[in-house]
Amino acid sequence: MNEYDSNRIADLLQSIDLKRVDDEQLADYFIFNTCHIREKATQKVYSDIGKIKKIFRDKRSKPTFILAGCVAQAESSVVFEKSDFVDIVVGPQAYHKLPGIIQEHNQNREKICNTDLDVSEKFDTLNSYKNNFSKVSSFVTIQEGCDKFCKFCVVPYTRGPEFSRSADTIIKEVQNLVDYGTREVVLLGQNVSAYQHEDFNLAKLIKQIATIAKLERIRFTTSHPNDFDEELINIFKSEPKLMPQLHLPVQSGSNKILELMNRKHTREFYLDLISKFKSARSDIEFSSDFIVGYPGETEEDFEQTISLVEEVQFSNSYSFIYSQRPGTPAVDLDQISKPVAQKRLEKLQQVLFDLQLKSNASKINQKTKVLIENMTSTANQFFGRNEYMQPVFINANNCIIGNVIDVSIHSYKRNNLFGTII
Ligand code: SF4
Repeated sequence: MNEYDSNRIADLLQSIDLKRVDDEQLADYFIFNTCHIREKATQKVYSDIGKIKKIFRDKRSKPTFILAGCVAQAESSVVFEKSDFVDIVVGPQAYHKLPGIIQEHNQNREKICNTDLDVSEKFDTLNSYKNNFSKVSSFVTIQEGCDKFCKFCVVPYTRGPEFSRSADTIIKEVQNLVDYGTREVVLLGQNVSAYQHEDFNLAKLIKQIATIAKLERIRFTTSHPNDFDEELINIFKSEPKLMPQLHLPVQSGSNKILELMNRKHTREFYLDLISKFKSARSDIEFSSDFIVGYPGETEEDFEQTISLVEEVQFSNSYSFIYSQRPGTPAVDLDQISKPVAQKRLEKLQQVLFDLQLKSNASKINQKTKVLIENMTSTANQFFGRNEYMQPVFINANNCIIGNVIDVSIHSYKRNNLFGTII
């Protein structure tokens, strides 16, 4: 979502004649669009600000420095104290105001902080700016925010409550991207499966988007298990443009930990949902997110996570040690020791990596459909992704970027498949 937001910021700033430069030495304005989901990402922001500050210490007049995104939102009261290099702080729901804020700052040179959470005003503004970042596979944010309040998560505090854009503005944006070369759209939201605007839920929106000629593929991420109804499950069966791969975070396989996290679903509910998807589309594959070492997690709880992973057979996943986020309810709970959490993470990741390799191995000598995204720097090699989002490298003299082609897979590494055109 930050990639989408960054591109939209660039769209907005064209209106005040600012354009991107590749060489940071040439920049008059720096914008860091930041992530607050884990402690490490937040720490990195301040060390990266320090690096930029160093570049300009001896060189020329100071550029204007803008801190945007979720770190800006969460740390708004202390950013100026922590770094005097920052001139403007703007939260993820207020970045549409940047053209006016920058002009104001240029006039009076005073520091400005805007962390309003008015997401509907943001999209009203963005809808009147063309999305200029059409790629073969493009992101489109359709929903933002979260009302679920998992106890470890900062999103409800940094992005605010759930908000869904209107279907007609989304469809217009997708059509425009397709006109400029997009062939796959990834619909984004912190709770994308909770999308609801007037009569449109996510299933209806997908059906409508699928009618756009030349759009080949649709995906959506990220979902909460509780937001799927029969209609949304069955869309995997009825809509061929919707790819058979779903990222469905579960976080833990233990009911005790799920309850402590306030996830509002059980292990049994999650597994039942997985089997419903498989009944709707037998070739569907799943990825997930896992937190290990959440406060209160015992060896037995952790082993339940391992058993859930083995039962579902995820083809790809993200796993992390629990990261304390200031302002969330879990921050004050007794923490699991770092070495114990690290050991569990390593064990989980080994199981997940083995499953990823198993999924890759199952593609050998199989036909897979690859959407060609670009040529690589290696001679006669093209890059694309198959139906399951797996990166595929193809040796060929010529491929048309944006075409979907049949590829036979002959080898693999953990993160990549390699094949030839059929
Ligand atoms: S549902 Fe997702 S975004 Fe919402 S609080 Fe839970 S983890 Fe965070």
